[in-house]
Amino acid sequence: MAKGYNVLFVTSEVFPYSKTGGLADVSNSLPQALNSLGNEVRIISPKYGQLDERRLQIHEIKRLKDLSLKMNGIETKFSIKSSFIHGKNTKAQIYLLENLDFFKNKGIYQNIKTKQDFSNNDERYLFFCKAVLEILEILQWKPDVIHCNDWQTGLIPAFIKTIYKDNPYIRDIKTVFTIHNLAYQGIFPKTSFAKTGMPDEVFEAGSHNGKFSYMKTALAYADKITTVSEKYAEEIRTDKEYSEGMEDILDKRKKDLSGILNGIDYSVWNPEVDKLIDYRFTSQEIPLKWENKRELLSHFKIDYNEDTPLIGVISRLVAQKGFDLIEEALPQLMKENVHMIILGQGDEKYQKFLKAIEKKYKDKLAIVIGFDEVLAHKIEASSDMFLMPSKYEPCGLNQMYSLRYGTVPVVRNTGGLADTIIDYKKPNGNGFLFNKYSTKEFLDTIKTALNLYEDKDKWNKILRNGMSLDFSWKVSAKKYTGLYKTLV
Ligand code: ADP
Repeated sequence: MAKGYNVLFVTSEVFPYSKTGGLADVSNSLPQALNSLGNEVRIISPKYGQLDERRLQIHEIKRLKDLSLKMNGIETKFSIKSSFIHGKNTKAQIYLLENLDFFKNKGIYQNIKTKQDFSNNDERYLFFCKAVLEILEILQWKPDVIHCNDWQTGLIPAFIKTIYKDNPYIRDIKTVFTIHNLAYQGIFPKTSFAKTGMPDEVFEAGSHNGKFSYMKTALAYADKITTVSEKYAEEIRTDKEYSEGMEDILDKRKKDLSGILNGIDYSVWNPEVDKLIDYRFTSQEIPLKWENKRELLSHFKIDYNEDTPLIGVISRLVAQKGFDLIEEALPQLMKENVHMIILGQGDEKYQKFLKAIEKKYKDKLAIVIGFDEVLAHKIEASSDMFLMPSKYEPCGLNQMYSLRYGTVPVVRNTGGLADTIIDYKKPNGNGFLFNKYSTKEFLDTIKTALNLYEDKDKWNKILRNGMSLDFSWKVSAKKYTGLYKTLV
C-alpha cells in the first residue's frame, strides 16, 4: 500500500454525533474510506450539548483534559474527548471538543427551541478553529494535512499562515478546504474579525461587502480548495447565479479548485443490508420493495395500490431544495394518481404550507415535520420516485441513496444532480432531469415519469440501471489522497 498521509479532518457535524445534512454523512464515511487506503485520518468536531456520552461511547483523554486557550483576551477552558466511528471493516478516531462557554447548549448552529442561529456563532467557530491548532502539539500527532470543511472551519488556513507562521509544529501543515455549500458563508460584522487577533491583511482578503466572511477567508488562504461535484465546481466559478459573490476569488484560485464527488457508504445506505427497513432486497427482489411500501403506507393510513406510484421527499425545507416549486406543484400533483410522503424540517412557511395541504389530501399525502433517520431509510426503500428540484445542489446524497434503493430520481439538472443522474431516454438512463427552475418544467417532468411508471418493463429498466451503479467512496477517496500527495 502506498504511503498514507496523516490527516486531521475538521468538521462541524459528524453522523451519528451530530447531523443537519449531508456534511455529517460525508464526515463519517470519507475519513473511514481514506483510512482503508492507508492514510491515518482522525476527525475533530465540537461536542454539542445534545450528545449522549454513554450511548456514543465517548471517553476522556487524561492528557487532553482541562486545557485552555486565550481568545480575544479571555481565557477559555476546554477538554478533548475521544470516540471511534466504525464501519464493517473500517474505523476512524474522532476527537470531540468539549467546552461550556460555546458548546454546552443543545443545537448545532441554532438554538433548538427558538430555531434562531446562535448569536455567538462567530465566537463558537473561531474558538473551534483555534482549539484545533492549539491541541496539535499536546496530541503529539502531527497531521500532514488539515482537511477543513465549510465556513465553520474556515479560519484555520489563515491562522496557519499568520499567527502560527513561526510555530515549528504548525507552520508547514498544508490545508485542504472543501466547500459543501457555498451559500452558507459565515458572514459577520467587522467587530467579529477583531476577535480573531489576525492581522488586517486577513480582513482585506476575507471581507465581503465590508463584512467578514469565514468562507471567503478560507478560499483566500487554503492551499487547495475542493467542492463536492465537478459540475458545482464549474457553476460556482463561472455563473453568478451560483457563485454567491465569490466568483472573483474562485477564479483567482481556479488552479487550486477542483470538484470531487461525494460517495455513499453502502454499509449504511443499501437495501441489501439496511437494518432500519422492514424488508431487505436486492435488484432481483423488487417485489420486496413493494412490501416496504405497503408497510409504510399502512403506517400513514394510506391504501396500498400496486398501480399508484409513491413519491418520496426527504429534505431540509429551504428554498435551495426547490420548495417553492414543490409548493406550487403540489396542488396539481395531488390531482394525479399518486401517493406522496414528505419528511423534512426547516423554514416555517414551508412547514405551514405542507401541514395545511396534508389536511386536504389525507388519503394520499403524508407530511412529517422533523428529523427522523429511520423514516428516511424507510422512505428511500418504499418510494417509486424521489423528488429533488433543487435551485442549486453542491452534490446531494439523497439522489444517490435513491438510486441504490430502486427509487427513481426526478431532479433539476444542476450541480451534483447533473453529475449523477442520467436522462431516462439514454440506454443507461437512471432518472428524470429538467433544466429550467420552473414549476411547469418540474410538473411536466413528473408527469413524464408517471406515464413511464405505467410501462413496467421500461420502468424496471430505469430502476435497475440506477441500482447497478457504484457511488461508493473508493474512487473519490483515491482522488482526495492524490490531492494530499500534491501538497505534501
Ligand atoms: P444537504 O446536505 O444539502 O441537506 P444532502 O442530500 O447532501 O443535502 O444530504 C441530506 C442528508 O440529510 C441525507 O442523509 C438525508 O437523508 C438527511 N436528511 C435531510 N433531512 C432529513 C430529515 N428531516 N430527517 C432525516 N434525514 C434527513
